[in-house]
Amino acid sequence: MKRFYLSPGAVQGRRMVFLGKDARYICKVLRLRRGDVIIGFDGGGMEYTGTIAILSPKRVEAVITGSTHTNDSPSSRVALAQALLKGSGLDSVIRQATELGISDFYPLATRYCIPKVKKEGEKRLERWRKISVDAVRQSGRTANPVIHPVRGWQGFLSMAGEFDLSLLPWEREKKRSLKSVLTGLTDQKRPGRILIAIGPEGGFTDMEVEEAVKAGFRTVSLGVRILRATTAGIATIACVQYELGEG
Ligand code: SAH
Repeated sequence: MKRFYLSPGAVQGRRMVFLGKDARYICKVLRLRRGDVIIGFDGGGMEYTGTIAILSPKRVEAVITGSTHTNDSPSSRVALAQALLKGSGLDSVIRQATELGISDFYPLATRYCIPKVKKEGEKRLERWRKISVDAVRQSGRTANPVIHPVRGWQGFLSMAGEFDLSLLPWEREKKRSLKSVLTGLTDQKRPGRILIAIGPEGGFTDMEVEEAVKAGFRTVSLGVRILRATTAGIATIACVQYELGEG
């Protein structure tokens, strides 16, 4: 069944109302008809089932026949912080991380991010939010991850204390593996909120790593191979979900 994001105000009484692009898409691309059943989700956990009653390329209305509130957030909530990347590098990271169930995404401006990319970062927020909403729709999630504004390193580290476990995958960490940290967590010590921070193409500076460790991060190795920045975050999330039983 087709799922659609309900923008604020789209639920009016017992009806879901879709305008603009969505209405056009429902009518012209999907060619749905009156009587067809669709699902709307508000990104906050509410999901509605409705039957299409009014259909035009400008406005589609569906009569709500049922609603549920689902909390599909895993019991350990994983947040990904990732340094800004060239081109559309972060687009795929955000899409895949949303599919894997992250609760938050923090774009970071670190020392080795290209200055031009830092400027563009702010402008990209809207695009990233759209990409994540689309991944929510497709993956059957009900809650949208929060895409935070771009932060500098210091600003980011100052909020790292809100997490129970903060991991910094670092290619020069030779002793502590991600696996050893994750398997060392017993049920009692099971973290509620986990933060993963990944560097840009050029990696973190020694100073950034040192500051992160002071702020409570644990550096971990993802193995002997150097992974691309776009691979490292996704691989880490998958390992965390698997080890903590959310896979
Ligand atoms: N500076 C490095 C590559 C950085 S890779 C170089 O050019 O040699 C980008 C990011 O991916 C890193 O900042 C780190 O967070 C993560 N990463 C890549 N491979 C890793 C590995 N084997 N172990 C831990 N982290 C890794």
